[in-house]
Amino acid sequence: MSAHLTTVAGVAVDTRHFIGGERVASAETFTDLSPIDGNTLAEVSRGTAAEAAAAVAAAKAAFPGWAATPRAERARILRGIADGVDKRVEELAAVETADNGALLRSHRRGVMPRVAHNFRFFADRLVGLDHGDFTTRGHTNHVSWDPAGPCVLITPWNAPLMLATWKVAPALAAGNTVVLKPAEWSPLTASLLADIATGAGLPAGVLNVVQGHGSEIGEALTSHPDVRRISFTGSVPTARRIAASAAANLTPLSLELGGKSPLLVFADADLDLAVDLAVEQYDNAGQVCLAATRILVEASVAEEFTRRLGEKAAGLEQGDPRHETTDIGPNIHPRQLERIDGFVRRALAAGARAVVGGHRGEGQYYAPTLLTDVAQDSEIVQEEVFGPVLTLQTFTDEDEAVRLANDTRFGLAATVATGDAERAARVAARLVAGTVWVNCFFVRDLRAPFGGSRHSGVGREGGTWSFDFYCDVKNTVTAPKGFEDHG
Ligand code: NAD
Repeated sequence: MSAHLTTVAGVAVDTRHFIGGERVASAETFTDLSPIDGNTLAEVSRGTAAEAAAAVAAAKAAFPGWAATPRAERARILRGIADGVDKRVEELAAVETADNGALLRSHRRGVMPRVAHNFRFFADRLVGLDHGDFTTRGHTNHVSWDPAGPCVLITPWNAPLMLATWKVAPALAAGNTVVLKPAEWSPLTASLLADIATGAGLPAGVLNVVQGHGSEIGEALTSHPDVRRISFTGSVPTARRIAASAAANLTPLSLELGGKSPLLVFADADLDLAVDLAVEQYDNAGQVCLAATRILVEASVAEEFTRRLGEKAAGLEQGDPRHETTDIGPNIHPRQLERIDGFVRRALAAGARAVVGGHRGEGQYYAPTLLTDVAQDSEIVQEEVFGPVLTLQTFTDEDEAVRLANDTRFGLAATVATGDAERAARVAARLVAGTVWVNCFFVRDLRAPFGGSRHSGVGREGGTWSFDFYCDVKNTVTAPKGFEDHG
């Protein structure tokens, strides 16, 4: 076997970059660890500015051909990628779980089928993309979505292939070429995607994958003058660095960032449902940007709600994410675990009370934690922990609920539990959030806009919003026959 192939969960994965249709190694590698047991999974090519430049050059060279490829042909190849994903769902799920520690069952049943859906959805959307012509004093206005050029897509580790393909699929559908940089803590499924895309007939250079530390390869990608779009999902500090680096070329940016979303539980809510919604926030060991980690409960039901939530949280099964009955797997990396524990220790020192948890588990696990007695302006209420840590506060009326809900620098999502439809509409209208869920959570449709307000992001992707971002939208105005414009 080549020195550059590693076997993870029985699947061969190439650990090199994929540039211009070729596998390219760097002189150095970085070590990719499994969060399940801390074992080394792979030594992965550690990209530098040289590989970034080569990948952008490959994307630039491939752009005219792919942009000129008829929509129907582009859509056919994207559907072929979806078929390739479908054929390898089990393998992709197993590799992703080994690499990022999220539950195997959710990768098999939810995440990887959604990866395939990303490609089919944007293929279908591309073929139907149209804006009816309209006239201005007899002149025809024709709107077209022109490909923009090479795109740099930078993604995090918490849902690696799902978040990568949510960008790759519309970018390719739009006729752009791509340089994808996955997170260094979960680099493997992006490499498999390159194999799948090649198998589906995607021409060389249209999708390039580079590996490495963001701090080492990132700036060479985001400051490159030939890059026409940057789409980033990750943390606020990194977003600031990317925006600064993109500024020299005024490269358009889409930023999907962190959150500190609220779950508002009104006394008129179905409390069983509200408790279940709260428990869902521990999914993926709390490493979900949309997680409603701030629970706000109407005071009259707070005692009952807290008791029931505490019991359910304490009953969650934590352990090996490959086991069917596991509810919560490990956290991604020792550094992330240390970060989570730091937040909790400081909160406890400041007077918070742990209803459940409040400490590490064994190995790379953090006990599901529920903290009460927290102040609105405290770090634990204001900052994203990105671990299985929820806070619980109370409110006495709708105004206070909305005020607390909106009182952070984020605005990604909000969830409202209430039995009163009028209240739901009133409160939803006042919440600052890209998505509001009423009596439900995480119901996602690719036709919907997705993104965050304030520090949770810039721009929206999804449905036509993705094409608006990944295209140079053009209006062509044509005079009627025989018309002469003299001024
Ligand atoms: P991160 O910002 O540390 O890293 C994200 C990516 O950016 C990685 O690929 C990393 O290598 C790269 N990067 C780092 N420095 C860079 C630089 N200077 N230039 C270019 N690229 C660079 O984030 P993370 O820890 O991987 O992810 C967790 C964060 O992502 C959380 O804040 C979470 O809320 C957010 N997130 C948001 C969404 C959303 O859709 N809004 C979805 C998932 C995760």
